[in-house]
Amino acid sequence: MSNGAFPISMRDIKFVLYEQLGIERLCEFDKFKDFSRETFDMVLEEGAKLAAEIIAPLNSIADKEGCVYEKGKVKVPEAFHKAFKKYCEGGWIAASVDAEAGGQGLPNSVALATAEMFVGACCSFTTYPGLTRGCANLIESFGTPEQKQMYLEKMYNGQWTGTMCLTEPQAGSAVGDVKSMAKKEGDHYLIQGTKIFITAGDHDLAENIIHAVLARTENAPPGVKGLSLFIVPKVRINPDGSVGEPNDVNCGGIEHKMGLKGSSTCTLNFGDDGKCHGYILGQEGQGIQLMFQMMNEARLGVGLQGFSLGNLAYLFALKYARERIQGVEVTKMKDPNAPRVPIIKHPDVRRMLMTMKAYAEGLRALIYRSAYYADLAEVATDPQEKEYCGNMIDLLIPIVKAYSTDIAFRLTEWAIQVHGGYGYCGEYPVEQICRDVKITSIYEGTNGIQAMDLVGRKLSLKKGALFMGWMKEVNEFIEKHKTHPVFGTAVGQLEQAKNTMVNVSMHFAKVAAGGDPLYPMLNAYPYLELFGEVELAYLLIDQAIIAQNKLRAIFQNAGATTDEAKAKVIDDQADAAFYSGKVYTADFFASNILPKVQATAMTILGGNRSALNIPDAAF
Ligand SMILES: Cc1cc2nc3c(=O)[nH]c(=O)nc-3n(C[C@H](O)[C@H](O)[C@H](O)COP(=O)(O)OP(=O)(O)OC[C@H]3O[C@@H](n4cnc5c(N)ncnc54)[C@H](O)[C@@H]3O)c2cc1C
Repeated sequence: MSNGAFPISMRDIKFVLYEQLGIERLCEFDKFKDFSRETFDMVLEEGAKLAAEIIAPLNSIADKEGCVYEKGKVKVPEAFHKAFKKYCEGGWIAASVDAEAGGQGLPNSVALATAEMFVGACCSFTTYPGLTRGCANLIESFGTPEQKQMYLEKMYNGQWTGTMCLTEPQAGSAVGDVKSMAKKEGDHYLIQGTKIFITAGDHDLAENIIHAVLARTENAPPGVKGLSLFIVPKVRINPDGSVGEPNDVNCGGIEHKMGLKGSSTCTLNFGDDGKCHGYILGQEGQGIQLMFQMMNEARLGVGLQGFSLGNLAYLFALKYARERIQGVEVTKMKDPNAPRVPIIKHPDVRRMLMTMKAYAEGLRALIYRSAYYADLAEVATDPQEKEYCGNMIDLLIPIVKAYSTDIAFRLTEWAIQVHGGYGYCGEYPVEQICRDVKITSIYEGTNGIQAMDLVGRKLSLKKGALFMGWMKEVNEFIEKHKTHPVFGTAVGQLEQAKNTMVNVSMHFAKVAAGGDPLYPMLNAYPYLELFGEVELAYLLIDQAIIAQNKLRAIFQNAGATTDEAKAKVIDDQADAAFYSGKVYTADFFASNILPKVQATAMTILGGNRSALNIPDAAF
């Protein structure tokens, strides 16, 4: 931890980036040749400073003040204005955008590490730059040169912000049911329709808001194939780039939510007066295809949001457990004069903390590695490596999004539990984090939809090549470390769990081939969880093997050969304590969490169909 009141897992962030992934390798590629580990470190330190000093103080204010809707306009908490200016001045909206396009040109993996800090500091604040980045990304990828010229610079510097407008009252998960219309008129389209739940849809942080709107052109076919994507500015833009007259986009109200209160969630009415101009991105009918190409990045972003908040909840719980004095050690319960101890001494609290630590560190490894794959998929010169990294992102993205966000919610719940009654009260930060994080399992494709994507699409994509590639990687790891003197048992547990998972995957394929798509869909979510547990076990054991080697070297340097001497080194040296923590964490996960995979698999393979067969009336 560092940075006073706002905790940041800087040591683990650097461990994953440098010691596990070895992202310095990226600097060998042309795109990142101007960077080095030193410059990455500088970026991380700058990010930590901004997060702790400027953004974190907003978090509680955001929750208390929320957004205000008055006379058709939305105001964000006043304190956001100064922080937004600072954030934009630092170039953080475009952290991973190419330098030629106005960004810092950072690798995704490094930008993501700073995003972990920003989101943890104040998640609702980060939705404004986050959505701006998402919308600008669409324009950068699919816009005409004129569109790029008109929008990108101002969006990347925060003068204008952006949104993604998909959802309508009847079209949430079923995005193909979008009804908003676009009618061609000269060089533009007239947009008409209502979008709901639009994050950052209206606010007073910027002079213009650029909406990316999914709508249906005249005579378009029904379903997703009939959707097109439009750029719709809130305020029209004059030929010289200045803002002109209003574009008939009106905010009809904001939602009153359980959390994320500083982020405006808006109903937007487009074209009530028939004067809303939209400009097509790509071709008619390409809307969903273009959105899909941005989906991995967006889902990685939401997985990160969930994880950051879950991790933060763990850090606050850990701090509290070290400070809160309550009761005596269990071995001295009969002695009324026994010294009172901090609750971290109680076995049940240690169980919760250990579970949280294991999940938080495992999720960081999963998410950062996905970002690193995204970097390599872009810059790798070996076509096989490029393809492999692309495949891994496609396969793992539903897990990154759904598993991370659901586990994150549980992390916040356990953090409240560790705080006891105080955790339930507003005086401590964990209850807000619990409320804030819940949305991450719902938006950007609900977690149920993610599970269906994994089982219904990703497992069989490219004739199963993605899954086979993943299996090959894990199998090689298992073969290499099966006889490891310290982690051989854990690797054996991983192998068992992986084999079980493969059995379940094959069972799904068999059942679906036999004409029963319902059963795999019924069990898609438990399967996604199972996949997540196996993946995390793999990544945590990998970390532990790295850490154990480093720990051995530290002991050698210190001349510590006895258990007592080693314990002293761990007490005295932060790095030794850190590496030792990794060893215990992997051992804990493999022995306490991974075995649950077997029970989940048994229930899936058991074939029970009660949930499908029960008549609706009998619920
Ligand atoms: C705070 C907030 C911010 C948001 N920001 C944005 C934004 O910026 N832009 C935007 O376009 N949208 C946004 N949304 C909307 C969000 O993406 C949707 O709420 C989400 O896609 C789910 O749609 P829905 O709410 O209509 O739920 P529904 O689709 O009605 O789903 C309800 C439940 O049914 C399940 N379900 C639905 N269909 C299926 C199916 N076929 N198979 C299995 N299960 C199914 C779902 O998993 C879910 O559990 C936001 C929502 C909120 C609350």
